[in-house]
Amino acid sequence: VNTHTKPDISREKSAALYEKSKKYFPGGVNSPVRAFKSVYGTPLFIQKGDGCFIWDADDNQFIDFCASWGPLILGHNHAKIREKVAEVMQNGMSFGAPTALENELAELIIKNNRFVEKIRFTSSGTEAVMSAIRLARGYTGRDKIVKFEGCYHGHSDSLLVKAGSGLVTFGETSSAGVPKAFAEETIVIGLNDKTALTQVFEQFKDQIAAVIIEGIPANNGLLIQDKEYIEFLREICSTNGTLLIFDEVITGFRVGFEGAAAYYGITPDIVTYGKIIGGGLPVGMYGASAEIMGHISPDGGVYQAGTLSGNPVAMAAGIATLTELSKSGFYKDLNAKAQEFVESIQRFASARNYKFKVFTVGSVFWFAFIDKDKIQTAEDIDPASMEKFKVLHRELLNRGVYLGPSGYEVGFVSAAHSKIELEKAKRAIFEALDV
Ligand code: PLP
Repeated sequence: VNTHTKPDISREKSAALYEKSKKYFPGGVNSPVRAFKSVYGTPLFIQKGDGCFIWDADDNQFIDFCASWGPLILGHNHAKIREKVAEVMQNGMSFGAPTALENELAELIIKNNRFVEKIRFTSSGTEAVMSAIRLARGYTGRDKIVKFEGCYHGHSDSLLVKAGSGLVTFGETSSAGVPKAFAEETIVIGLNDKTALTQVFEQFKDQIAAVIIEGIPANNGLLIQDKEYIEFLREICSTNGTLLIFDEVITGFRVGFEGAAAYYGITPDIVTYGKIIGGGLPVGMYGASAEIMGHISPDGGVYQAGTLSGNPVAMAAGIATLTELSKSGFYKDLNAKAQEFVESIQRFASARNYKFKVFTVGSVFWFAFIDKDKIQTAEDIDPASMEKFKVLHRELLNRGVYLGPSGYEVGFVSAAHSKIELEKAKRAIFEALDV
């Protein structure tokens, strides 16, 4: 394979920064996937972003499809967000007391969303999901939860659990430091498997507080589930008095204003959001009916708190973002643009008989070096195909296109990607696929 049709970009300054950062942080980073362990080269240190572009420390410019892992649906450095944040910051950063801005963001969310009546803001998706699980346990008085192999829900102890062998298993911890006893309260099954789901409820009938699923699983490739399966899941939860949690930290406000719940037309009991609702600043949120949320402290007995929860600066970024998203035609335009982009990439690859498939929903896409038309479980992904992603990633960096540095990660088209830049990105992708 000719892997070097373009010279490698200069990474001198990034490499020097990385040498320094390795002295300060484990692996030189503050979140593991940033370390570029799954792709070639040292991590790129980013100095700025604007619209759909980012620039690294060596002044290389990229069309960015990582979008800070999803939040930047309006692109980088959006004027409305920057101005709102700057305006709010004039009056101080945080008070640890309520502000009108929290009401304003809550109104934007609740008034336009069928699935939540009351909400609680947190400072990250991890916190939101961790708290949603506690709420489900407090509400039902049960301890066990069910999660799916291939879904990521942040890094709280109960959720850093993967499947053992067998159809229905007590989870095995997927991180050192998670007590075995915690993992034993988490049951892990495969996605899209009705038999496993039925068996789990037969076996643990009155013990399951909640089943948690990513609205559309997007952390282990893009594993789009059949609507019928999610309906089955909804029904079995209702029958057994178990709460259904949709973790919409990625899909919330991404596939539409009401996320995957509206995409499927299925009502979860608790929803978690993050990423986009913070417009690039740290925000998470969980919400449910007023009745369920009534169990949260100080109204109810489930404790959850946060020094910076609902802080004015993050609220400002969220308000500016959701105001743009609520404009008529926003999602229609974005999704149409994204679909045209990915369809032409698929057409190119198919015409050349490449073993390459783009899975996509709305403005989310996943490049897979696989020749299956449907991928719905983590097991369906051949780890060996990631070698091809590594080459694609390097060749795209060399051609000015930035994807998240792992073949298991999805990419995002933002409103800031114009047709011209998508055309340029497409040409780069065609060339990189030809390598
Ligand atoms: N849930 C899902 C579906 C996610 O994709 C993520 C992060 O990628 C999280 C939860 C955790 O969110 P955070 O990284 O903000 O803690």
